[in-house]
Amino acid sequence: MNLAKNKQEIMKQVAVLVSDEQKAQPVEVIAVTKYVDVATTQVLVNLGVQHLGENRVDKFLEKYHQVKGKSLTWHLIGSLQRRKVKDVIDYVDYFHALDSLKLAQEIQKRATKPVKCFLQVNISREASKHGFYVEELDGLLEELAKLDKIILVGLMTMTPFEASDDEKQAIFHQARLINENLAKKKITQMPFEHLSMGMSGDFALAIKEGATFVRIGQSFFKE
Ligand SMILES: *Cc1c(COP(=O)(O)O)cnc(C)c1O
Repeated sequence: MNLAKNKQEIMKQVAVLVSDEQKAQPVEVIAVTKYVDVATTQVLVNLGVQHLGENRVDKFLEKYHQVKGKSLTWHLIGSLQRRKVKDVIDYVDYFHALDSLKLAQEIQKRATKPVKCFLQVNISREASKHGFYVEELDGLLEELAKLDKIILVGLMTMTPFEASDDEKQAIFHQARLINENLAKKKITQMPFEHLSMGMSGDFALAIKEGATFVRIGQSFFKE
């Protein structure tokens, strides 16, 4: 695979989308390195990638401890088992998959500093997907407001693999509207200023609908 070329193409596509849409907020590209080893991840960092994402705790820790670079930002993007919170939470800059109150309570107990979290929402209501249903959010925020280690920076969502582009765009659009409404509540520690959405197959649609973090894996590592 040609990492330098792939990286350049992704960054260019994102830059073009950002300027076409005249986005006020920058869009950060998280390179999802779950498919590759430490050495390949290091090559990406040497090419200038600063945001790294992993979906599993063991892989996250391996890369966190071995990959070297200036001002790297570490994203844990996959669902987190409560018993693993203590092993990893203090190394995480952004946690993208907050999907239960019990998990938030465990983070509250184990983290030594506030953690920037995305609430994962299941807008498409797929049974196989993690995340809260939209109607659960109000009651949930009341509970989360009691936890001073949880900073809710925004929503994270994913689209069904088989959905059409129109369906995907509608899901991203809805996520953006909900995020904006939550931001308007101005709850302490809940800025809802970011949106984590868009993967290799749909990041253009996500950026059009206001993503501020896209999580891209496969496109970095294709042939
Ligand atoms: C793997 C993964 C991604 C990246 O998906 P690609 O299709 O490889 O770009 C994004 N988000 C999560 C939660 C993932 O597990």
